Amino acid sequence: MLKGKKMIISIASGKGGTGKTTVAVNFALSLKDVQFLDCDVEEPNAHLFLKPIISEEKKAYIPIPEVDEGKCNYCGQCRDVCAYNALAVFPAKDDKKGHWLLFQNLCHGCGACRLLCPQGAIKEVDKEIGRIGIGQSYDIQFIHGRLNIGEAMSPPLIRQVKQHINPTKTVIIDAPPGTSCPVITTVKGSDYCILVTEPTPFGLNDLILAVEVLRKLQIPFGVVINRADLGDSGVEKYCEREGIPILMRIPFSKKIAVLYSTGIPIVQEDPSYKEKFVRLFEHICQTYKL
Ligand code: SF4
Ligand code: SF4
Repeated sequence: MLKGKKMIISIASGKGGTGKTTVAVNFALSLKDVQFLDCDVEEPNAHLFLKPIISEEKKAYIPIPEVDEGKCNYCGQCRDVCAYNALAVFPAKDDKKGHWLLFQNLCHGCGACRLLCPQGAIKEVDKEIGRIGIGQSYDIQFIHGRLNIGEAMSPPLIRQVKQHINPTKTVIIDAPPGTSCPVITTVKGSDYCILVTEPTPFGLNDLILAVEVLRKLQIPFGVVINRADLGDSGVEKYCEREGIPILMRIPFSKKIAVLYSTGIPIVQEDPSYKEKFVRLFEHICQTYKL
């Protein structure tokens, strides 16, 4: 990490419903000089708790190809280069004209087809995929992305949200749940990742998958166990066996559940949690000397 640059900490979970956003929001509210990025662009909900004042909203686009059929000879090179099978090309046959088809929902906007078309028949046009909101919540810089309904391609929007990362602030990123492309796009470049899980067989199964991803990406990580007093000891035993630090245990509490359901962060009602999150941050900083 560069001298003077502050930490980027992403909060992820192998599965939804573990309390990932609760941890991310309360963690952010406990620290100073924070920027919060909600990269769970398919279902952003951190704003329900942080209640930011959004001062700027802009549309997010990806460049998708458009063909000039006057120039295209239906050679199929664009189709062959597309790693996402987003193109179909049917050559002209007998007296029938050829066809060039784009499956927009598969297109990642990588630009390879345009670059490699020997006829220069492809140009790019913007396709709106979502919106990015920028604002302020308390003293937290807040940014979130919101994918358009029916849009399948969240990684390009996540990358555009991450372009707003402010290296002079401690950046807390709320990642999407799961272990697929959107999560990898989100956590890439983080200095540390907090994995939130619950002590159930499902929680353990998805935690193991998330751990594999982070080890591949070589991102240091630790675990927060939510509803730690329910369920079984599988997660604890796994973490012990694998040498994974358990950073915090949050017990099940009716009070926390009620606060969550009314959009109130725990740290605003119970300052002891603020201290716990500050200690968690100090532990991460000391452990990784960042
Ligand atoms: S590479 Fe160019 S010329 Fe060939 S099929 Fe694609 S658009 Fe047409
Ligand atoms: S821009 Fe990339 S993903 Fe989209 S059709 Fe072209 S090669 Fe495929």
